[in-house]
Amino acid sequence: MLLTKEIESCLKVNGNIYDFISVSIYNIKKRVPKIADPVEFVCSIYDNTGIYKEIRTNSRLAFMKTMLPFEQLDFIKKTFNTTCETDNSEKHQFSVLYSILLGINDAARAWSEEALTSWGPLDTDDKHKIRVYLRPHSTLITSFEDGVKRKRNIEFNELIDPLDSFVILDIKELKLKPGQSIPTGIFVRPGTNNWKKGKLRIGIAPLCCNKNFSFKYRKIAESTYKAHVEYLSASEQKPFAVKARKILEKASQSRCNIVIFPEFTCSDQLRDAIKNTLESLNKNRAPVPDLIFAGTNWTSGNENVLIVFNGQGKEIGKYYKHDHYDDPDEKGNRIIEDIQNRWKEVDFYGLPGIGFIMPVICKDAIVEDGPADLFSKIFLPLLIVIPAWSPSVSSFERLTGSTKDNFTSFVMSDACSAVHSDKEFSIGMSIIVTKHNSVVSGNAKAISKSGCSSSDCDQGCLEVLEYDFRFVPGKNRGDPPIHNTSVRKIVQ
Ligand SMILES: [Zn+2]
Repeated sequence: MLLTKEIESCLKVNGNIYDFISVSIYNIKKRVPKIADPVEFVCSIYDNTGIYKEIRTNSRLAFMKTMLPFEQLDFIKKTFNTTCETDNSEKHQFSVLYSILLGINDAARAWSEEALTSWGPLDTDDKHKIRVYLRPHSTLITSFEDGVKRKRNIEFNELIDPLDSFVILDIKELKLKPGQSIPTGIFVRPGTNNWKKGKLRIGIAPLCCNKNFSFKYRKIAESTYKAHVEYLSASEQKPFAVKARKILEKASQSRCNIVIFPEFTCSDQLRDAIKNTLESLNKNRAPVPDLIFAGTNWTSGNENVLIVFNGQGKEIGKYYKHDHYDDPDEKGNRIIEDIQNRWKEVDFYGLPGIGFIMPVICKDAIVEDGPADLFSKIFLPLLIVIPAWSPSVSSFERLTGSTKDNFTSFVMSDACSAVHSDKEFSIGMSIIVTKHNSVVSGNAKAISKSGCSSSDCDQGCLEVLEYDFRFVPGKNRGDPPIHNTSVRKIVQ
């Protein structure tokens, strides 16, 4: 009676509801466009109050209580069989299956996020290349979404979009090469009194002013070089480790939720200094950030890896850079970053009530349809953080396009040693989703360095930004918002 053997086998005792979703979506994507127009198909389900209402109401009740209710897989099986008893045409069976998914989607809004250790992929089997993540029930921009009355992604997928309690990842979209990983969503519990409702404090650390590494070049063709990073000696790293400690102490005093160090700067010594400082802040019961993007570490195998700590000083995730830089130097030589193991590991972070926070590294945010664009479109994160080492802060302004379409905000943290100090001294960029007149857009601002003009600074400079996501729409259509989102710099 059931649609396919695969779906049948998912509905077994002790089965995983996410496996059922994954297999169902695979079959629906494959078959529905052949038997019906997807838009008409979805509309007919909403119109058919009989099946849809019945299943929706029942499943909502049935799924309310617990996270992985395998008894309820039995319930799905029964519902399916009863509903298809009199009409077992393929179209009817798919309508029932899709209605059940809508019911699960509704019920998922009540599932306990606290029971999670990961946001996904939560299905256990990727043989169909469809993976399922749970999406946070509410995020800091829920009020914005409600206020502007528009769905976040404009690229309309009529079959998938209604299932908005989940991220349903079609792996094809990532165009993975052998050895590359799909993203893993790490569960982070927000610190007790750190998150202010609707606001997020982000510290960016330019690590002024000198580099703790140098670029080394290997000639591969006429005027063409591959570049890698070599760190200064352990004793030469000491002042940088002291700076890292001062930076985190300032972040603690300013009650930052997130701290971001730049690309390349996370030598082994800096990594240790960050870990030790977080541990001692905890020991002294000082406030700590929830996420520390510790900058990227260049490994002896030429990997460019972002290291991420939680507030307790534990390394909780990594991100391997995907796109290499390929730029001319002052002499017109072509310089190509020599990176290996792109996307070997791709971790992102989800905080209940806050949303997804996803990192990418420098060039990954600049490349058209690169990681930042893809993640913004697929995962609809609240925020993408970008540790960078770039002479040009303005190259990141293009991300306002993703903000307009997907409501993703961004923060880019550059190294002081990457920017030309004779120009206007920007060491990062903030982009927040905003509404101006009737248009949703990304409000981009370069972040200038304050309180430090020294060429030999050892203060441990930290620029603290407050992202305020609160949004209150105007009374009438076309009125400006009563409270709009904003980013302001906190003077310490
Ligand atoms: Zn400074």
